[in-house]
Amino acid sequence: MKRRSFFKLGAVAGALSVFKPAKASNLLSSSFEGSAEGPIILSTWSHGLEANRAAWNVLEKGGKALDAVEQGVKVTESDLNNRSVGIGGRPDREGHVTLDACIMDEQSRCGSVAFLEGIAHPISVARAIMEKTQHVMLVGAGANKFALDLGFKTAKTPLPEVKKDYEQWKKENKDQFKKPEINHENHDTIGMIAMDANGDLSGACTTSGWAYKMHGRVGDSPIIGAGLFVDNEVGAATATGMGEAIIRIAGSHTVVELMRQGYSPKDACKEAVRRIISKHKDLTNLQCCFLAIDKKGNYGSYSVYSGFNYALKTKSQDMLVDSEFDRNW
Ligand code: ASP
Repeated sequence: MKRRSFFKLGAVAGALSVFKPAKASNLLSSSFEGSAEGPIILSTWSHGLEANRAAWNVLEKGGKALDAVEQGVKVTESDLNNRSVGIGGRPDREGHVTLDACIMDEQSRCGSVAFLEGIAHPISVARAIMEKTQHVMLVGAGANKFALDLGFKTAKTPLPEVKKDYEQWKKENKDQFKKPEINHENHDTIGMIAMDANGDLSGACTTSGWAYKMHGRVGDSPIIGAGLFVDNEVGAATATGMGEAIIRIAGSHTVVELMRQGYSPKDACKEAVRRIISKHKDLTNLQCCFLAIDKKGNYGSYSVYSGFNYALKTKSQDMLVDSEFDRNW
């Protein structure tokens, strides 16, 4: 089954995912950047709509951006129909669902977890690492032990229906070193960035990573500075797409540093995309997308290929916005 299918809405040159239908009240916007007063939440892909609403429940009560982003992405992690985030995710080539996540707050505190298995909420494990340890990142068996010691909820992965797809994939893909693909079918991550009523920024990023990746592979999503970066003086950025390419340019950190130099959020994302393009001879299936907000509430995004959209939530807006892009698929 295709992960995404798209339809055109009238003359709007945008794409609204029907993978998870948006409520009728959702506006579809084809504007690529904007500005908001007051609290704002941005997150990657259409699953961000539901996640943003949970995050908004925190912000509208005057809560902190840090709590909002954690609560928001937990909605996506809990969705057992989501094949790219949380325990419903697709496994690696050896049949293991390995989860990556990170979180960063307005004090530049950060926590990260990678190669975690069978734990329902990697984002909360990342937050616990940030708040309860002297470390930033735990991986693999050590991360699992940490989560179990703290009593985090466990789950058996892969889910039976995911395992069935995997068995089929194995039959059709005997070459284990086959060139990887990031396309419409096999990826998506939720990266969420938010500003609270106090003007403070935080972000969260969580994924099951690239479907059928090599065992042990970790992408950009749990890497502070790659999949997520927050500097409360400047802005916040998150990324989705081919993690290897995003890591190569320290993507989200690059976007924030460009905003520090005066780039608008969209232009900063565009420059990061330009660098990715310039550093890769072969762009086949190399989708990378950035989403950013600055300290004044300006926001924007940019991707290598068409098809990326992000969810926006403010007091008066609850919509999917199409990203500007360098080229069509
Ligand atoms: N960035 C994720 C990874 O490389 C995948 C994605 O966002 O599509 O694991």
